[in-house]
Amino acid sequence: MAEKRDYYEVLGVSKNASEAEIKSAFRKKAKEFHPDLNKDNPDAAEKFKEAQEAYSVLSDENKRKMYDQYGHAGVGNNAGSGFGGFGGFSSSFDASDFDFGDIFDSIFGGASSFSSFGGASSNARRRASRGSDVLMRMEIDFLDAVYGVEKKFNLDVVEECDECHGQGGFDPESCSTCHGSGVITSTQQTILGSFLSKSTCPDCDGSGKVFRRKCSVCKGKGKVQKNKTITVNVPAGINSGDRLRVSGKGNPGYHGGSNGDLYLEFIVSDHDYYVRDNDDIYLEVPLTVTEAILGCKKVIPTLYGNVKLNVSPGTNSEDKQRLKGKGIDDKYHKRKGDMYVIFKVYTPKKLSRDQKSLIEKLADTDLTTSEMREFSKFVQKNN
Ligand SMILES: [Zn+2]
Ligand SMILES: [Zn+2]
Repeated sequence: MAEKRDYYEVLGVSKNASEAEIKSAFRKKAKEFHPDLNKDNPDAAEKFKEAQEAYSVLSDENKRKMYDQYGHAGVGNNAGSGFGGFGGFSSSFDASDFDFGDIFDSIFGGASSFSSFGGASSNARRRASRGSDVLMRMEIDFLDAVYGVEKKFNLDVVEECDECHGQGGFDPESCSTCHGSGVITSTQQTILGSFLSKSTCPDCDGSGKVFRRKCSVCKGKGKVQKNKTITVNVPAGINSGDRLRVSGKGNPGYHGGSNGDLYLEFIVSDHDYYVRDNDDIYLEVPLTVTEAILGCKKVIPTLYGNVKLNVSPGTNSEDKQRLKGKGIDDKYHKRKGDMYVIFKVYTPKKLSRDQKSLIEKLADTDLTTSEMREFSKFVQKNN
């Protein structure tokens, strides 16, 4: 194995070089030997790696001190393995597919862990990521929810710019900052030691190209906010808390990733007469005293038009009658409800003289029921 070269020599700086000098020397070397830019120079990868290693030590005050004092042995590099923090790790990988984003993904199980290490970007290669979903609450009329309705509303959506077809500009050329690679290599100081990481080029946002002419419509972003009219078909039977997904109308994605989805959550308003319980409909129907006593025919407004209902003699308040299948024909939950008519007997507060005398005649008769006789027994026992 060849003797390790002196780090100062690798970067071409003097032993007294300042931090800035070391940094700029490394930047020059990195540009010169970046493997992405030197695919046909077989030595480039090795030289790039060598420069990275030199920089990782010389840019760290403590490591530089150790190196100055003890040479390669002082920074644990006798065997030619790379940066202290990862032990022998760096000797085992090929510089050409060097990407700390990937390494962190495999060690910490996700790109998000990486970003907590000093904000280094794990998206050096501009991984496309989908935009987040958006939840929007929408009030809906009781009967619209019963029958289903087409809802239109306006929404600000971020979409591809039509002017530049999402490119951000016209006449592209290679980015001079990153030489078209889209990434910039820098040293990262972390609790695990010092090592190099790639970050997205700020000048081209990782695309590797810049435009001679920026798109004026989207100001180079490739995306614009548009106020769109969204049409949603709300199916019959939707209820409070139910959600509908509107595909692609959520937050914008990054680096070519698709938009998230929009979720509409409904709040169904109350009705003046109908009360809903899942897909069953309850309706209170008022009766006069005589209708309740004698029975009658009543017109009942259902969700599907009026129907005539026979009210049997002797009906009491809170007596219930079921109208099968007259509840909600629920396409959202795929089920069908019934309707329940609940009677309520209203006793008049004002009577004409004639009515009063008729009622008084009635009062002379025995109107007690079995329930009343049972109750009287209880009253006596309690005495
Ligand atoms: Zn660039
Ligand atoms: Zn544009």
